[in-house]
Amino acid sequence: MQVSIAAPMRAPVIGRMRVMLVESPIRMPRAQGVGAVKGSVKRVLLQLTTREGIVGWGEAAPWEVFTGTPEAAFAALDTYLRPLVVGADARRLRTLMASMDRVLVGHPESKVAVEMALLDILGQSTGLSVADLLGGRVRDAIPLSFSIADPDFAADMARMRAMVPAGHRVFKVKTGVKPHREDMAHLEAIRDAFGDTIDLRLDYNQALEPFRAMTVLRDVDRFRPTFIEQPVPRRHLDAMAGFAAALDTPVLADESCFDATDLLEVIRRQAADAISVKLMKCGGLLKAQAMMAIADTAGLPGYGGTLWEGGIALAAGTQLIAATPGISLGCEFYMPHHVLTEDVLEERIANHDGAVVVPEVPGLGIRISEASLKAGAKHLAEAG
Ligand SMILES: [Mg+2]
Repeated sequence: MQVSIAAPMRAPVIGRMRVMLVESPIRMPRAQGVGAVKGSVKRVLLQLTTREGIVGWGEAAPWEVFTGTPEAAFAALDTYLRPLVVGADARRLRTLMASMDRVLVGHPESKVAVEMALLDILGQSTGLSVADLLGGRVRDAIPLSFSIADPDFAADMARMRAMVPAGHRVFKVKTGVKPHREDMAHLEAIRDAFGDTIDLRLDYNQALEPFRAMTVLRDVDRFRPTFIEQPVPRRHLDAMAGFAAALDTPVLADESCFDATDLLEVIRRQAADAISVKLMKCGGLLKAQAMMAIADTAGLPGYGGTLWEGGIALAAGTQLIAATPGISLGCEFYMPHHVLTEDVLEERIANHDGAVVVPEVPGLGIRISEASLKAGAKHLAEAG
């Protein structure tokens, strides 16, 4: 019997690193409680090319009131991470991620941008999707949550009236931005219009003070949300534990849970029933999976949250959730289809029947050209 062994793949060594600070216009204003967004969002795009010419893409999408600034992410990549990335073998991913943590504190957004670009390259050079590289897909579609965050509530109601018949079921209302009685009226209007056909979630984005929060939360509990996200500021874990114990509705930690260290504290103090997993908070797809191993063990499901990512980072998030069983509460990857007026992808990742469809193609499953890059965003700075 003849045994054939495939030729070893040529080392995918990074030959070129290009970093771009871009700004994309957005279609609708967003009021989130901590930092309203209107007009445009800035992000950093990363293009890595191997010596053989395989191109991988990454994106760092910080938010200044949450994780950091896009200008700092640009400097982190261009000045501090470049010496480690150029010349690196993409197959030594964990080694590179560990060295990046040694030379630069924080900057999770920049580090995950490098990781997704390397996974994109590894996927393309092996014919595997990033989800395959992360252990294989456990789901082919991810329920998509749309955030009700327009300062003009009537505009959001009109959107929901169009979206629900098109198959959208999951909506997350940004509460705590407007006065409580307005939130109550809006939640009532939503339940009146759509009844229990929709999966309603609430996100306070840290807006409540612990002093009065329990009264407010008991009020909104009557609308039977699937979860209440981050009612109080990040540091008030004891107050979060109080809500989690007292309310029937699960409490989800977002700002209180950036990474595995935060998660251990959330679990130790029983401060939440679920967590929001964001690549821009935890700084890596592998790190997100390691975090979810802890969360799974403690019985906490994950939710695929976002900041203001465009299509590249959301493609990475899509692959992560496809391959991570515990992130079972859906995702909010609605930016490219509903908010960004332009994105740099040739084609956006498909949404179907209220869900993000996980692409089957190698790597991140996206295509970007010089033309789409030019047409999709204003370029503020470029290096490499
Ligand atoms: Mg949140």
